[in-house]
Amino acid sequence: MRIKSDTIRDLKDKHLRCLLLGHAWGDAPIIATVLENGLEAWKQNLTCESCGTRRFDTLEPKTFDVWRRHYEWTPGYGCNEPYVRADLRAERAYRASAQQPNGQVG
Ligand SMILES: [Zn+2]
Repeated sequence: MRIKSDTIRDLKDKHLRCLLLGHAWGDAPIIATVLENGLEAWKQNLTCESCGTRRFDTLEPKTFDVWRRHYEWTPGYGCNEPYVRADLRAERAYRASAQQPNGQVG
């Protein structure tokens, strides 16, 4: 079950970063696998080095196209409050300004 943050303000820094900039996938090998139904395929399991989200890809055996993909998000990733990307940028700016002596954005 995916547990999202309620508001943008509630997001952890790492989750805010990944929502805005995308996940920082660590390198992982593509390896042969046999699926539950006996079919052969490839798989690649990735982990975000920033927020810990995991992505599981199953690839077509001949074309290497993505056949199935699912994610396991760390608690708090995502936001129930509707937002646009500019809202995420604004939140990052506010957090950065809060760390400055004068506290000004921009
Ligand atoms: Zn991430």
